[in-house]
Amino acid sequence: MNVEDKKTSKILLNELLDRHYKEAEEAKTRGELVAWATSIAPQELLTTMGIHTVYPENHAAAIGARKCSQEFIDYSEAKGYSVDLCSYARVNLAYMETLNSEAGNIPKPDLIFCCNNICNTVIKWYENIAKELEIPMILFDMPFNHQYEVNDQDVRYIKAQILDAIDRLEAITGKKFDYDRFGEVMRVSSETSVWWKKAAMQARHIPSPLNGFDLFNYMATIVCARGTEEGRDLFKLWYEELKEKAEAGRGPWKSGEEKYRVMWDGIACWPYLSDTYKVLKKYGINMVTSTYPDSWYIVYEENDLDGMARAYSSNYVNRNLDFGVDNITKLVEDYRLDGIIYHSNRSCKLMDFRQFEVQRRVEERTGVPSVIFDGDQTDPRAFSPAQYETRVQALVEMMENRKGEGR
Ligand code: SF4
Repeated sequence: MNVEDKKTSKILLNELLDRHYKEAEEAKTRGELVAWATSIAPQELLTTMGIHTVYPENHAAAIGARKCSQEFIDYSEAKGYSVDLCSYARVNLAYMETLNSEAGNIPKPDLIFCCNNICNTVIKWYENIAKELEIPMILFDMPFNHQYEVNDQDVRYIKAQILDAIDRLEAITGKKFDYDRFGEVMRVSSETSVWWKKAAMQARHIPSPLNGFDLFNYMATIVCARGTEEGRDLFKLWYEELKEKAEAGRGPWKSGEEKYRVMWDGIACWPYLSDTYKVLKKYGINMVTSTYPDSWYIVYEENDLDGMARAYSSNYVNRNLDFGVDNITKLVEDYRLDGIIYHSNRSCKLMDFRQFEVQRRVEERTGVPSVIFDGDQTDPRAFSPAQYETRVQALVEMMENRKGEGR
């Protein structure tokens, strides 16, 4: 076995991310096109065209995790951007001007690729970038699913936009769109999503071999490498590592027992990733699943544009309240959860505005206790470590009482 074979998925993950940023910088230097895309956009079109793609939300999260988001936020707010604007946008709109961060750099874009299946904030945020930099923007308008399932009319509407985007990409690049290559990228993208999900599902074992905070770490790669073979192979390797660990009966940590299994609703608090993790571990709580990473389970058949349109409109933030409640109820059952932690994320209005009602209905149906804490994905001012720990302690008390009642 050579050294290469011995690399763990964690090592490969870091290498892949480094390469992702480096290759985009090199491409820009060579004069090739670089796109900035939202995190759940049909990247398959850009990958097919050989356009290097980077993801401002990913990059802002990395800046947050490196604890340097505040300076970007201050810069944006000094320019007049409201404190109520999503902090990813405030970080990125500042970065667009400074193009320099300790968390690594993404090159200035030549093209904006925006999909509003996550929220409508991205429309104005990305439109603003396109306008200020005087570059083209391709927008995919994905209607919110007020009905339970994505309806056929919306599928036709989204598919028409995919076809229109292909025409626009041909005009922008002066190259013909290669449908054979497109089929291949579609296949790889779907396979990557499947391995990502299979790895995440290993947390159903008791104890879970997966420390759920790793979902947040690996998420950077499912965003930026979904259409690549190396991304797919990384998640397959991660799945195999976790499966082996589960078969050996090993839990999430080298020391300490998994006493409670919880779900985390929403985005991580990136500036406090390690703090939030350590508080849970202190009480023996393993975050085994989350609503958020499932958003990259984007699966369809090769060359099936209807399926692709449907898949991109199906992520849970684009689905109605009933779906949101059913989704979490199922996670409670599938992962045999003891509790739920809801992150009331100041940035993300769409994810949060229905959170209290989701909490009420899920608790009514499952009896599983939950708490809500205040925070933000990248604005460090919105999080209070003391409040977080107090909420976690309250959850431990409720979970313990429930266990005492034999449930
Ligand atoms: S965090 Fe929420 S508001 Fe911000 S870009 Fe993501 S989905 Fe939109």
